[in-house]
Amino acid sequence: MAITRAGKICSFCGTPGGPGTDLPLIGGLGGGQVCVNCVDEFHAVAHDEEQMAVARRAVPWETMSDEEALATLPVILAVAEQNMVFAQEWVDLLRERRVSWAEIGRTLGVSRQAAWERFARKSGDAGSAV
Ligand SMILES: [Zn+2]
Repeated sequence: MAITRAGKICSFCGTPGGPGTDLPLIGGLGGGQVCVNCVDEFHAVAHDEEQMAVARRAVPWETMSDEEALATLPVILAVAEQNMVFAQEWVDLLRERRVSWAEIGRTLGVSRQAAWERFARKSGDAGSAV
């Protein structure tokens, strides 16, 4: 199964984007997705010394109201879930390439069995932990 951006959300603002929407997403190897609106916003900040100085001094949550912080919680959880789905898709990709459970486990610092238990049941790769 191919890994796609369909149904993904921007990891920075939580807006749905990708295929079938008007909002292109750019994905990173870590699973993060960024929409073009966030790219534009980050680009503007990165090329404005005053805004960069502010960005270096503070993290956004320090100035958020409780309502803003609460509204952010579902986005955080949606992005976390999206990244777990991406991890599963990545393991599926590795298995399609016939990378062994032993190698996947070694890469994750766990046993072959632990890697298999974590990922095989969801991927439909219900074969042995070999
Ligand atoms: Zn965004």
